[in-house]
Amino acid sequence: MSISENIAAIQSEIAAAAHASGRTASDILLVSATKTQTADTVRAAIAAGITACGENRVQELVEKKSQNAYEGASVHFIGHLQRNKVRQVVGQVDLIESVDSEVLLDLIEKQAAALGIRQDILLEVNIGREPNKSGVFPEELEALSCKASKLPHIRLCGLMAIPPIASVPGENRHFFRQMYQLFVDMREKSYDNNDIQYLSMGMSGDFADAIAEGANIVRIGAALFGPRMNRQI
Ligand SMILES: *Cc1c(COP(=O)(O)O)cnc(C)c1O
Repeated sequence: MSISENIAAIQSEIAAAAHASGRTASDILLVSATKTQTADTVRAAIAAGITACGENRVQELVEKKSQNAYEGASVHFIGHLQRNKVRQVVGQVDLIESVDSEVLLDLIEKQAAALGIRQDILLEVNIGREPNKSGVFPEELEALSCKASKLPHIRLCGLMAIPPIASVPGENRHFFRQMYQLFVDMREKSYDNNDIQYLSMGMSGDFADAIAEGANIVRIGAALFGPRMNRQI
């Protein structure tokens, strides 16, 4: 299948899942996870209707930006963000989805202030409490969202999660449900300055379940571009 056929197939599955949860396709943002894809492939995806790209690695982000790969789409940073790479990402992407520490908040604030911009971010939650994964635990969210609300060059827009992969369909659905509850709690707190509107969860294998549980951003790679040679999150 071509990229445009894959996009059409995914879009219709997204629409079906959205309708089943009382929403419409336009309520869900499809972010194409473009790690390991070339600039030409990214351009082809955008030409075929992709409106947002998610990049994992700073080096790939910088390279593809310099090749104007993302023209016509917004760009999200979705990978683990190392402290020493913050300067290369702030102001270069529309949304940093993977913020998971106070130190990172401070560094992003500092760089955004230097640029005179406000950086949109999500907090990443390690909802499965997996030792090898980034993200904060649910009980750390309150302190981080309170802190973010006090940083004038950061706009906290919601939550992101990569729950454990399901070995059988539906197995990880309870994690999506927990995330939705955290998202609703955070929205209801309504700290000044925060603008909680996005819940980013669901990948190729489980995006329908994520949407059913309330996701409004899904990040999809393999189902759009085909399996990666070097499979990694
Ligand atoms: C690669 C990746 C995705 C997409 O995963 P697929 O299984 O290829 O759909 C989503 N989110 C993050 C953070 C990723 O690194």
